Amino acid sequence: MAWIIVDLDDTLLITSAIYQKARLEFAQLIEELKLGNSAETINLLNEIDWINRKKLDVAKERLAISMYDTYCELVKRAATDPDLSIREKCFDIMQKVFTHRYRLVWAARKVLTECKNMGHRMVLYTRGDRELQERKIKDAKLEEFFEHICIVPHKNEAQLLNILLELAIEPEDAWMIGDEVLTDVLPGLNLGMNVIRVWGYHEYEPAALPKSDRLYNVKSLVHILPILEKLDFSTNQDQITKITRQIPTYNKY
Ligand SMILES: [Mg+2]
Repeated sequence: MAWIIVDLDDTLLITSAIYQKARLEFAQLIEELKLGNSAETINLLNEIDWINRKKLDVAKERLAISMYDTYCELVKRAATDPDLSIREKCFDIMQKVFTHRYRLVWAARKVLTECKNMGHRMVLYTRGDRELQERKIKDAKLEEFFEHICIVPHKNEAQLLNILLELAIEPEDAWMIGDEVLTDVLPGLNLGMNVIRVWGYHEYEPAALPKSDRLYNVKSLVHILPILEKLDFSTNQDQITKITRQIPTYNKY
């Protein structure tokens, strides 16, 4: 038995593609208004959203506010007057993100079922707006797989350590599974956990992947199964490392 701590967005659920669709819809609106081309608008939107992230954090309205801020900046550059109805259009675009029925990644239920059948104990660990994350979890019927569900405003080393301490999980017996280097991979490795980074559903990763004997880098969620199946958790860590090194089909860093 091992503890497995699993990320939600872009690990179990297709998420960032839905946000990217909203960004493109906004960029098309800007192009129709003749205020800029799509690529430049998306770059500016990302810059403004990065600034807004510092004050608005994971507020679910943040991207809609960033869209309107981007529109206002483009209007200013064009030396014209803003149309206040555009603000409503930005919120309408984001409404689709909130009400979207998020899809599980391919074979997610099979993977979770098999992990449970292998006797592993699982924790769902996600950051974001609580109401939105709760709805996604409920819609995808994920509760049945997890002993604990942690929805937090920030994912970092201290937050992950809290989970390990609260559940009395030994890091060397635990696996972190997620897509983001800064919030999933690094905190897990720094705390001494084993980590599987699933990169195939992730739109953009600014951070470099670290090198570690305890890190696997796989494309799809289904690829975690052969790694976990090879483990014999009654053995010590040296043996676990030895066994996992025999798996040749995935990139190991
Ligand atoms: Mg994620």
